Amino acid sequence: APSVGVLALQGDFREHLAVLRGLGADARPVRRPEELAGVDGLVIPGGESTVMDKLSRAFGMAEPIKAAIADGMPVYGTCAGLIMLADTVRDRIEGQESFGGLDVVVRRNAFGTQLDSFETDLDIPELGDAPLHAVFIRAPIVEELGAKAHSLAELEDGRVVAVEQGNLLGTSFHPEVTGDTRFHEYFLTKLR
Ligand code: GLN
Repeated sequence: APSVGVLALQGDFREHLAVLRGLGADARPVRRPEELAGVDGLVIPGGESTVMDKLSRAFGMAEPIKAAIADGMPVYGTCAGLIMLADTVRDRIEGQESFGGLDVVVRRNAFGTQLDSFETDLDIPELGDAPLHAVFIRAPIVEELGAKAHSLAELEDGRVVAVEQGNLLGTSFHPEVTGDTRFHEYFLTKLR
């Protein structure tokens, strides 16, 4: 089985580890550069991107992760993880950095306080005919797609909430909390 790391500095990494293990993957928490070097792919969980950014720099993980992305490692970011993968982040706090790699512009907390969290069904042809139930929690939105990235899913109003660019995947929502494992399965196909 391919080994998949889940960045375990902050956020809901345990939920991702459980989903990946349920799919038969050798899933491991990654907190140190040596652990990153031993995995074939990486999931960056949901949580709080400002904190994940600070911790990844403090733990010496930011540069190794950027290098792994540049080297073509499959990486999947959910919510805060999508923010960490975006080349450009709007409404970031002063000094906040991302790993980058995904040729997109995302806006943090894009749904505002009135629609802090919500759930909806998304049509994602790559995942088959059944709609995917998607949970959004203080979610970012993809406001601009660069030439290298393409949309996998949009809300009814057309706003992009899932993107793919080669080995990189990002979702505004949290497939690790719904029991529908198709997004993780889709990511694992990139590791084989
Ligand atoms: N609002 C968070 C951030 O800016 C993301 C929320 C989440 O991951 N559920 O990082």
